[in-house]
Amino acid sequence: MTQTQYMEDVAQIMAIRARGSRPMALVRTYGCQQNVADGEKIKGQLEQMGFGFTEEEEEADFILFNTCAVREHAEDRVFGNVGALKNVKRRHPSLLVALCGCMMEQEHVAERIKKSFPYVNLVFGTHVIHKLPELLFRTLTDSRRVFERGDDSEDKQIVEGLPIHRDGTFRAWCTVMYGCDNFCSYCVVPYVRGRERSRSSQAILEEFTGLVRAGYKDITLLGQNVNSYGKHLQEDVNFAKLLRMLDEVEGNYRIRFMTSHPKDATRELIDTIAAGKHISHHLHLPFQSGNNRVLKEMNRGYTREKYLDLIRYAKEQIPDLSLTSDIIVGFPGETYEEFLDTVDLIRQVEFTSLYTFIYSPRVGTRAAKMEDPVPAEEKSKWFQELCAEQEKIAARRCASMIGTVQRVLVEEQNAKTGLLAGRTDGNIVVDFPGAPALIGTFADVNITEARNWILKGVLA
Ligand code: SAH
Ligand code: SF4
Repeated sequence: MTQTQYMEDVAQIMAIRARGSRPMALVRTYGCQQNVADGEKIKGQLEQMGFGFTEEEEEADFILFNTCAVREHAEDRVFGNVGALKNVKRRHPSLLVALCGCMMEQEHVAERIKKSFPYVNLVFGTHVIHKLPELLFRTLTDSRRVFERGDDSEDKQIVEGLPIHRDGTFRAWCTVMYGCDNFCSYCVVPYVRGRERSRSSQAILEEFTGLVRAGYKDITLLGQNVNSYGKHLQEDVNFAKLLRMLDEVEGNYRIRFMTSHPKDATRELIDTIAAGKHISHHLHLPFQSGNNRVLKEMNRGYTREKYLDLIRYAKEQIPDLSLTSDIIVGFPGETYEEFLDTVDLIRQVEFTSLYTFIYSPRVGTRAAKMEDPVPAEEKSKWFQELCAEQEKIAARRCASMIGTVQRVLVEEQNAKTGLLAGRTDGNIVVDFPGAPALIGTFADVNITEARNWILKGVLA
């Protein structure tokens, strides 16, 4: 049977179970934008099977958690929330509970779900999202629970043409490549997302053009390492070339992308941003650590000097470039002096904002087997020290923008203050008074005030 046939069967079965009313699904996504994009594909398929969507557990006929495995904290939250579903299921025995996403790609997690959470009906991994209709059909018609992770070939494929239920009306995600081959020693992603594979530039161009035509104003290209886009394709393309191709699409919009890996970021990429018509002057370039020994142990493939050299070039070519990064504090064996190299690097670069994480051991990774003598409280102090330093830098950067005019994509109205809020090209939040009709459009805003990392202004 094809997935379309399964879809029709599931729609019929669900309509009967919901006794005439529309079956409702609650889809909750944890973690990164790639997961959010997957969640939209899952919702697209559910919609075609007749489901409506709800945020209320009590209203749902089907609850799905799309999980994240990147740090222990993310996993604990999922386990906590799955545990809480036990009571919901007791009140609504016909409720279907499903779990998917990166956590489910890990053997030990699937085992724990099997043993400790008997009310979970369906568990599936990241490579079989396109089989959701079949998996739901099996769950509905078989008395056994369904666990599906796909076979070895499935982590190498790309399934095009899945329906997408987009959550936003002016911001959208567009995946350009899947998986990761880098095996940074701390990271679980290559194990749960499979090998790197790129979509054809034609498929991306079609989706992208469709988004611009539909009125999307802020489109983020996604991949674990967008700079290795195209490596395994037959066509002669790389990420910079893809960017230039998309930038040619006529319209009033901006392009963002994440994540760039410093080892593969090129001057060609910087030149492309500098020359672009729609490419935002924002570069998320995670350096993780400012110390060369730690970088080597992390298997990152670049040095502090190489990173700073690229940043210098980028700032020369794009003076108003907004830089952001991810950082790991307390990698196994990191000393306080080595940590200070990270602090020194953020002072030199002056990032707009940082996503800072305390190292979290992940089962199966190389770093999880390394000696990790520094106590958690000590790491937590370093973490605070780094955040305090970044706050000062961000405040300084924001203050330097007072008096400038920024093009802002207006996103929402604050319910309490009535102010509109939007983001600059560099992804900084700006609050300003204005009519709600501006939401979803670009507005020029005169920056009058900076409060830490938030800007305030008036329409120019
Ligand atoms: N592909 C992206 C990152 C994906 S994971 C890249 O290479 O930049 C997002 C971020 O989570 C990473 O950049 C890293 O800072 C953090 N991270 C990943 N594994 C982690 C771990 N085991 N402990 C703490 N932080 C981690
Ligand atoms: Fe993880 Fe490194 Fe791949 Fe990023 S590049 S997903 S940090 S292994």
